[in-house]
Amino acid sequence: MSLSAYDPERLNTMLTRLKLTAVRDRLDNLLDEAARGGLNLREALAFLCEAEIAHKDQRRIQMGLSIAKFPYVRTLDGFDYDAQPAVDAGQMRELATGRWIANGDAVLLLGPPGVGKTHLAVALGREAIIRGYSVLFTTATALMTALSQAHARGWLDERLSHYSKPKLLIVDELGYLPLEPHAAHLFFQLAARRYERGSLLVTSNRSVGEWGEVFGDPVVATAILDRLLHHSHVVTIRGESYRLREKRRAGLLGGSPPPPRRTEGKRRSM
Ligand code: ADP
Ligand code: MG
Repeated sequence: MSLSAYDPERLNTMLTRLKLTAVRDRLDNLLDEAARGGLNLREALAFLCEAEIAHKDQRRIQMGLSIAKFPYVRTLDGFDYDAQPAVDAGQMRELATGRWIANGDAVLLLGPPGVGKTHLAVALGREAIIRGYSVLFTTATALMTALSQAHARGWLDERLSHYSKPKLLIVDELGYLPLEPHAAHLFFQLAARRYERGSLLVTSNRSVGEWGEVFGDPVVATAILDRLLHHSHVVTIRGESYRLREKRRAGLLGGSPPPPRRTEGKRRSM
């Protein structure tokens, strides 16, 4: 290569070939900025690399979020801990690091409707994506329907693989609606396949003691819980619905709420 023959077209082509598309698309602005900042060549190169990496990270996160199929956008920053003393900010910050996913642990978020279970599940899923883990969000009903249909049609194995791929599978609203008759066995197979390969985050309005009833099969429910609780973080949220609380604050509802209680820990049931 010659030092003198600078050809903007060729630079463009090279940046494309190297997949440095953020640098390519913002080259004039980035170089102007580097010049204004008085950067030397090494500093300018580092600055361009940073811009490219920031762009690629952003794109990866956007892609991960769209693959995860979250029902809504929620963040940990948007969680009001004052309104929900049963949730420990320190524990959530620790879970946000994703170490539990690296370890293949499970998280159970238990509590009545409206207390922020789905919010926290989505927020932790988002943190996991930011840290590079693949995530899939589904409701228990959608999951069990998909598995039992696949079972009936003879492609259960493919469906189980599909739900086993993401490093973190979030199963929301276990126990809200009655499950299919085969649900316990299908869920057991899923938990077995994912066991020690990925993490599960389950939200439920029912205590683990009631899961026998939820699955309609106490023996299999115990086997499922045995795997889930082996390495698990159980967060039990009590207290009243966040939305009702907001309404009450706005004076739309009367009465006083029950005081929230805080119970959490490893390997405990409600
Ligand atoms: P659950 O899944 O426990 O039924 P959600 O997580 O769906 O409840 O919460 C209901 C709504 O209230 C959501 O919009 C959620 O973002 C909001 N919410 C609940 N708890 C909190 C909180 N402590 N801080 C901020 N928003 C909250
Ligand atoms: Mg919910």
